[in-house]
Amino acid sequence: MSEEKKVEKIVGIKGMNDVLPEHAPLWELFENTVQSVLKSYGFAQMRTPIVETTSLFARGLGAVTDVVEKEMYSFEDVMNGDKLTLRPENTAGIVRSAIEHNLTYDGPKRVWYTGPMFRHEKPQRGRYRQFHQVGAEALGFSGPDIDAELIVMCQRLWDDLGLDKVRLEINSIGDAAERNLHRAELIAYFEQHKDILDEEAQRRLHTNPLRILDTKNPTMQAMVNNAPKLLDFLGEESKAHFEGVQKILRHNNIPFTINPRLVRGLDYYNRTVFEWISDELGAQATVCAGGRYDSLFGMFGGKPTPACGFAMGVERLLELMKLTGELNATSICDVYLLHQGEQAQMQSFVLGERLRDAGLDVVLHCASNTGIGSFKSQMKKADASGAAFAAIIGEDEAASETVTIKDLRSSDFENNQTSVPYGAAVDYLLDQIIGESENKDEHHCDNPNHVHLH
Ligand code: ATP
Ligand code: MG
Repeated sequence: MSEEKKVEKIVGIKGMNDVLPEHAPLWELFENTVQSVLKSYGFAQMRTPIVETTSLFARGLGAVTDVVEKEMYSFEDVMNGDKLTLRPENTAGIVRSAIEHNLTYDGPKRVWYTGPMFRHEKPQRGRYRQFHQVGAEALGFSGPDIDAELIVMCQRLWDDLGLDKVRLEINSIGDAAERNLHRAELIAYFEQHKDILDEEAQRRLHTNPLRILDTKNPTMQAMVNNAPKLLDFLGEESKAHFEGVQKILRHNNIPFTINPRLVRGLDYYNRTVFEWISDELGAQATVCAGGRYDSLFGMFGGKPTPACGFAMGVERLLELMKLTGELNATSICDVYLLHQGEQAQMQSFVLGERLRDAGLDVVLHCASNTGIGSFKSQMKKADASGAAFAAIIGEDEAASETVTIKDLRSSDFENNQTSVPYGAAVDYLLDQIIGESENKDEHHCDNPNHVHLH
């Protein structure tokens, strides 16, 4: 008697998502576009470890921030007791690495990164425990020009991604001395309204009162709106810097609003801060956030090095692309190869290689546990692949050395099929596919941006 034991399924971790194959084309379109836009501004990619020492983030992000207080995945290395943390963001890691490798020894550097970040938050739309960021950091640059360049670069990225439903808010949070002046008045103001402060605000009153301005608590909004504005405390240099940023943005026709309550969730920022916001995404509306962080190198024991950067939330941007974008990437290939019989299979393999030589993306039908399948079932797979064409080699085609080519996008179901000599199939398909696309180069093999936009 055999006892059947039910094997328990292992499931993924809450708030940490799988990117499934059907989503890959959109991720790739996004990543390829990011890579080419950032490269076009001279940014070079950096990859730092996903795990860093806990003290890096505790020191870098500020002890009284949401992230450090309650969102970090921290653990002890069981082998040696080291205190480690899965990175909740990547600026601290980049700056640590820049100091360690003396990256700015011969002048400023423009760098960017992409990858997963980890925060133990309440999972909901647009908020996950593992999520992805793309970020850019301009290290060693002190002027308003680079702050503006980062913003102009974001605008180009939105344009290239086909996104027009994002708006820009900017603010200046001054320097430490200016913030201290403001802070004293802010605390005095909040103390006058202590009865309205929620528990979190009470706790932050003397540690991080600026963050109270960032509250999402509706009952505190009116009071917070009338609080003393940091902008009114800026000295001449900070003002000039902020005006310099605005001047370049205006000159480049980048619309923005100044939001005097805009502060960043992390402690290391000064002067320029900015956010790109979409009204299409519900509560998690910020798709990109950044600012200047001139003191962070010093806080990590490095030489004082001015810097500015941003980080964008990839999942939120992909959702926006799906909701409002003009670009939609769904196909996995240009041509799907169907075949029946051994000789046809051999010919299909060779045809597939020739089409790939010519720069096309090709899926060759292969056997599953139910075998190679009928033409009908193969055709279902061809349709689902999003391919523009099916190339069919059956026993008849194999014998007569021809290929039947079916236009999968044609609505003319009587005349969507044609027979071409086997030796002419590559040229025929190239002609059809490249002739169709407006820009011939776009369909060429050495283009890293080769994606199927149908
Ligand atoms: P939020 O106010 O949404 O929590 P934040 O101030 O914590 O944002 P940053 O640390 O500035 O965010 O991160 C930059 C961007 O990364 C955010 O604007 C957002 O697009 C994205 N992001 C941050 N946290 C998450 C998350 N838990 N899930 C998905 N995206 C996130
Ligand atoms: Mg947050």
